Amino acid sequence: MTFQQKIILAVFALIFIGCNQTGLIISTKTIQQHNLVNVQELDPTLLVELKYSSTDNFMGIDVYGDLETCYMRRVPAQMLAQAHVLLKNKYPDLLLLIYDGLRPRSIQWTLWNTLSDVPESERTNFVANPNTGSIHNFGAAVDLTITYKNGNPLDMGTHYDYFGELAFPRLEDSLLIAGDLTQEQVDNRLILRNAMTQAGFSSISTEWWHFDAFPYKVTKEKFTIIE
Ligand SMILES: [Zn+2]
Repeated sequence: MTFQQKIILAVFALIFIGCNQTGLIISTKTIQQHNLVNVQELDPTLLVELKYSSTDNFMGIDVYGDLETCYMRRVPAQMLAQAHVLLKNKYPDLLLLIYDGLRPRSIQWTLWNTLSDVPESERTNFVANPNTGSIHNFGAAVDLTITYKNGNPLDMGTHYDYFGELAFPRLEDSLLIAGDLTQEQVDNRLILRNAMTQAGFSSISTEWWHFDAFPYKVTKEKFTIIE
């Protein structure tokens, strides 16, 4: 083999490895098969910063690798774009910042196993059981916050994936009375919740950042889990 042929072979090998690495989490085949949408293709003004594609998450590990794109099923992605329109119409200085969308079940197992010290009954407050699957695993849930146009996130009282009662929307009234949350923090959460629920999403009682496009039962009827 000539030196030139070796170079060409090396380039092809690198391209092949690169494609495969990207395909480890969500492959092109999966995107086509499940009609997944890059949410920024629907709305280029949506900000995306996948926390599981960084070490800034509760595990301190980048579990998404090369995946930097937020994918969702088409209808949930359209609902998200609608929520963004509603937010921007009412608050022209604010933008939605996405932390997570479709999360393959393989990653759900990683999250679940990371909390192995927490009893399973309590663990489901923070991480859905991978056996039944999180609505994220179907591509129909989204985690997000709001930022000012300069990129600074609004103060929501806790960071993303804070595992504790301070993050629980159901306790906001008592947390406010106790002085654990400020009125501004609760109001900021309401701005997010109003935009999302007006677009058709449902909030959950334990995470201010999480929203489902459909209830679990409906999600399961409509979609399959992406492994
Ligand atoms: Zn979530």
